Amino acid sequence: MENSKLKPNQTHTEKSPWQNQVGQAITSPAQLPKGFNVDIKALTKVTRQYPMLISPYYLSLIENEQDPLWKQAVPDVRELEDEQNMEDPLAEEPQSPVPAVIHRYPGRVIFLVSNRCAMYCRHCMRKRKVGEEDLHFGKKSSKKIEEGLQYIQSNTAVNEVILSGGDPLLLGTEQLDRILSTLKTFDHVRIIRIHTRTLCTLPCRITDNLVMMLKKYQPLYINTHFNHPREITPESTKACEKLANAGISLGCQTVLLKGVNDDADIMGELMTRLLEIRVKPYYLHHPDPVAGTAHFRPDINVGFDIMKHMRGRLSGMCIPQYMIDLPGGEGKVPMLPDYVKSRSPKTIQVENYQGKICNYPL
Ligand code: SF4
Repeated sequence: MENSKLKPNQTHTEKSPWQNQVGQAITSPAQLPKGFNVDIKALTKVTRQYPMLISPYYLSLIENEQDPLWKQAVPDVRELEDEQNMEDPLAEEPQSPVPAVIHRYPGRVIFLVSNRCAMYCRHCMRKRKVGEEDLHFGKKSSKKIEEGLQYIQSNTAVNEVILSGGDPLLLGTEQLDRILSTLKTFDHVRIIRIHTRTLCTLPCRITDNLVMMLKKYQPLYINTHFNHPREITPESTKACEKLANAGISLGCQTVLLKGVNDDADIMGELMTRLLEIRVKPYYLHHPDPVAGTAHFRPDINVGFDIMKHMRGRLSGMCIPQYMIDLPGGEGKVPMLPDYVKSRSPKTIQVENYQGKICNYPL
């Protein structure tokens, strides 16, 4: 299949350090640094189906072909071997009243303002969309954003808007400012969240100018996406610090990924380090059954074991909620290890973090 998707540097009009990073991102396996052992022909076939993009910054963090960061960034032939999963398992398309909005829960919408990212993560749940023709450049795309804003304006039951994509922070600061300022004129919109992975994949995007602009729109919540402790660097720490100092609350939505972070010690270290850089672990997502990502999906018991291991050993502040998202758009459900072992009218028997069974009076 021919890859008709745009490369990000085809649409750049301004130049700033972060845009240069995106412009210099590698978009084909042949551009991987010499010294890595790759089958360029096989991986190029993968990129015709699922595009590749890695920012120079994230590329610089990768040490070898077994690196958990490599696994998140570099195409894998197993992406084309996945025959069991679906392109859109969460039925986002049928729940899109207009192309840029997903309206699943009554009071909340996801507003897709960008299809671009600083990295095309191999495990992305919106793998079908990232790298497609931009929503936000050219007349056709501006129209989609305008339609989205009009939809939100006319639905007064919507009190929360999540800017997502792609990555909203791949928009220019002025364009994002315009979207946020318009949303702020809708009285029924009380909470605005931005979902961005740039804190991890392109921390230089967090410029002083951007922070000054975002600061105008408090209360504002940013959820980011770190999956491994090695992604927490001086640069990403600084980016989080700037936002936190501006009073913006930061949370993290980590994805449990086989071969990347499906280990209790790695996960515990990640959660602790996140809290150190002022990012509250929010969700640990079990990966959705998205086409091209089957090789990342661990057994659900791996997630339960990790959650059990963290409970009691880490600060309660470090513990995210372990979540699944039901196929067909039925919504998110928290997954809890089964701590209650038996019940009687006056007592329940529960298992503590050490595996000891204790009585609890009712
Ligand atoms: S940054 Fe987010 S939207 Fe973009 S590819 Fe990665 S996970 Fe998907």
